[in-house]
Amino acid sequence: MSERIETNVLVVGGGPGGYVAAIRCGQLGLKTTLVEADRLGGTCLIRGCIPSKAMIHVAGKFEAMLQHVGAGKLGIRLDSAPLFDLGGAVDWKETVVDKLNGGVAALLKKAKVRVVQGQAVFTDAKNCSVQSSEGPVQISAEHVILATGSVVAGIPSIPYGEHVWSSTEALLQREVPQRLAVIGAGYIGMELGMAYARMGSQVVFVEALDRILTLFDRPLLKPVENWLKQRKIDVHLQTKALSVVESDTGRALEVEAASGERTLLACDKVLVAVGRRPATQGWGLEQMAVTMNGAFVKVDDQCRTSMRNVWAIGDLVGEPMLAHKASAQGEMVAEIIAGKRRSFNPVAIAAVCFTEPELVGVGLSPDEAKAKGIDIVVGQFPFAANGRSLAMQAGHDGGFVRVTARADNHLVLGIHAVGAHVSELSGEFALALEMGALLEDLSGTIHVHPTMTETLPEAALAALGHAIHG
Ligand code: FAD
Repeated sequence: MSERIETNVLVVGGGPGGYVAAIRCGQLGLKTTLVEADRLGGTCLIRGCIPSKAMIHVAGKFEAMLQHVGAGKLGIRLDSAPLFDLGGAVDWKETVVDKLNGGVAALLKKAKVRVVQGQAVFTDAKNCSVQSSEGPVQISAEHVILATGSVVAGIPSIPYGEHVWSSTEALLQREVPQRLAVIGAGYIGMELGMAYARMGSQVVFVEALDRILTLFDRPLLKPVENWLKQRKIDVHLQTKALSVVESDTGRALEVEAASGERTLLACDKVLVAVGRRPATQGWGLEQMAVTMNGAFVKVDDQCRTSMRNVWAIGDLVGEPMLAHKASAQGEMVAEIIAGKRRSFNPVAIAAVCFTEPELVGVGLSPDEAKAKGIDIVVGQFPFAANGRSLAMQAGHDGGFVRVTARADNHLVLGIHAVGAHVSELSGEFALALEMGALLEDLSGTIHVHPTMTETLPEAALAALGHAIHG
């Protein structure tokens, strides 16, 4: 016998889109059921944002300790090199993941959300069945929020396996490979490839496009490219990965340059990081008769699909495929279902790369603003002139903050930064754009000394033509 659940709102997927939507629905007094096929937290908490940042942290700690071996640095000296145990690091990372996973379960419980564990399979737009661990469940809902997220894309000629990892497997390894070939120099490939390089792998990147991290403009990428050069990490641009070749001399990735020339790159493991695609298959989406937008589910500015009372959020509905966008959409949809007037119309959604050094982009770059025909002023301030950065050994990487504003009324259009720790500045950048800040608002806000945030008013002052420390 199947259990039958009738609910106001059915949320499918417990990632940062789905679980936030469900919590908010519960808070608003809606009877809410969330179905999750895997673990609460989704890609982000279980195999994405959090575990990758935990491993990047470990890699950075290890590399920092290496500086102290021998002659030492900062007055700290280690007589012998520290040992790195990737298994131990992964075990620690899992404790962080478990803690957050448990935290999401507790928050859902507090909001009185019923969680059903298993894969939801739809028979029509408002009805699904779940083979849960506690037996079969039939769910009928007034509203359905689709938050099934995304799955890794791949290269058919380079199938995943023991020696060919996706980002998921890259975060579960217990031994650092001697040589790692990374296919894809987008943010996931770069973040994980750089982390492995810091853990001791000899890393090579292969990228089909003519540059790395295409979201960011060339001046911002310079410090990242310098980091790669200093470590003699090769990046093969305009190069296609063809296949993994096994021979008596070992394993190699066969690649083809734009010229047509083919080369074998010796490697022990391959990380394929060529993007993600929306999770639209295997759960009856086709039974729901929603209109698609290419591979994504089509939604309007309230995340409504073409089917009445069926909503879709997060990676399933398109770029940017980022956790904070998914959560913002989830919270909004819950409020609309509860009768509030909301729409999804952010001024900007910050994008961050946790590379070496880190990158932040919010709003328009100078080139993008010019392409729109806007007359702009630009101000830039280096971390090398910021006391706190120097005091944290963070000013030496060529990093800077750059503010782009309209020339006529000084409305801030974009804020970008590159440098160690700049991810932590992204919130202030986004807030400035969302609040419609002018250059004078940034320069007139008293920022704490000594902090890295002082670079923002300095960059604004530079745009106004009178930086104090520049
Ligand atoms: P997901 O998090 O993918 O969650 C979807 C959930 O739905 C999954 O748990 C899945 O099991 C479940 N599901 C799917 N179908 C069904 C079904 N039929 N029934 C029941 N359950 C189902 N983003 C950032 O913003 N910052 C970062 O630093 C960042 N780093 C990343 C690093 C890596 C390595 C990866 C892979 C991704 C990273 N992302 C990052 C992207 C981020 O993880 C996603 O944008 C985010 O998780 C999308 O949230 P979502 O709720 O739309 O979907």
